[in-house]
Amino acid sequence: MDNDIKTLRLRRGKEESLDRFHPWVFSGALAEPLPEGLEEGETVRVVSHDGRIIGVGHFQIGSIAVRILDFADTDINGEFFAGRLSAALRLRKALRLARPDNDAYRLVHGEGDFLPGLVVDIYGPTAVVQAHSPGMHFARNEVAQALVGLPDVGVRNVYYKSETTLPYKAHLDPQNDYLIGGFETSVATENSLKFNIDWLRGQKTGFFLDQRDNRELLGRYSQGRKVLNMFCYTGGFSVYALKGGAELVHSVDSSEKAITLTDANVEMNFPGCDRHRSYAEDAFKFLDNVKRDEYDLIILDPPAFAKHRSALRNALRGYQRLNAKAFEKIAPGGIVFTFSCSQAVSREQFRLAVFSAAAQSRRRIRILHQLTQPADHPVNIYHPEGEYLKGLVLYVE
Ligand code: SAH
Repeated sequence: MDNDIKTLRLRRGKEESLDRFHPWVFSGALAEPLPEGLEEGETVRVVSHDGRIIGVGHFQIGSIAVRILDFADTDINGEFFAGRLSAALRLRKALRLARPDNDAYRLVHGEGDFLPGLVVDIYGPTAVVQAHSPGMHFARNEVAQALVGLPDVGVRNVYYKSETTLPYKAHLDPQNDYLIGGFETSVATENSLKFNIDWLRGQKTGFFLDQRDNRELLGRYSQGRKVLNMFCYTGGFSVYALKGGAELVHSVDSSEKAITLTDANVEMNFPGCDRHRSYAEDAFKFLDNVKRDEYDLIILDPPAFAKHRSALRNALRGYQRLNAKAFEKIAPGGIVFTFSCSQAVSREQFRLAVFSAAAQSRRRIRILHQLTQPADHPVNIYHPEGEYLKGLVLYVE
């Protein structure tokens, strides 16, 4: 136990969710004004109204005041992070994700690995670290040291990328940079396919690892199909569709940069491939111009339409509109892979939006698969908010 850390007391009854291991202390649960001199990102001890120790965590200004790191009076230091990272690695080993034909996977998924505020993605010899909380920003060097110390992972370079993930009001000046090592290679392998990962300029850590299993499933449906991959970003679904034997694959993204990345990834896996074309266009406009029956496999993987609860209604309308357009155009016997990665949209709400789109199209539509995030993005059972990716595979007659 660390005697130097400050203690925050909860109001009576506010320990209930924490006693069920939910790792967030909301600011309204705190009994007293904050201790003098308490800084954002500091590690604090949380106690119940009558002084019982609940745990230790990172303090932050905002609606979530503390993110609990451990439900005990544990010292939060390099040893703590090394222990949590070893536990995260044990799980990934059980998942058999580190193989000669696969060296890209998520090693740390925030609350899902009992490290709220921290994301670590592994791309071969490079770990890309994102802090979502000031506490994890201050812990970044301990995390980086622990990463290179992990046996059998072979991390030699640690790139820190938190300029866009930290609360800007905290004035932390998080410069994106290598904490250890430097640039070595940007090519990672996923299920034998090669991807160029641009962690310097790309979105998130440079690649959406969370669609790995769903891309693999798509590959199995692609033989002989005419595929439209909307919101393609780095072209993950397109590459798997080509591997799966698609007759043609068209990739669409409104960002020119994304289209360049997609073209490069297709070229790296299928040099000189004439089955693929890409379009830098708005997805909604593109779908409007698609001819009926032009495609018989459509992927809809848009960005989070609702980043916050306040945007929920508009987001649901957006999903409905997008899916309705796909149902209107897809050939009979076609298959739609449709996704939502908005945390604020529940599985039921998403399904309802797709249902409304289906009804609007008046076509016979059946659900073949209900998809989610892969096992290297685990959901802490006490923190259901961690389940964010929802998908449906639909058969449209
Ligand atoms: N399917 C991708 C991830 C999609 S991320 C994968 O598997 O890796 C969302 C993408 O949607 C981003 O690349 C973004 O540029 C693109 N995007 C956002 N709004 C768009 C729009 N209106 N039309 C087309 N693309 C859009």
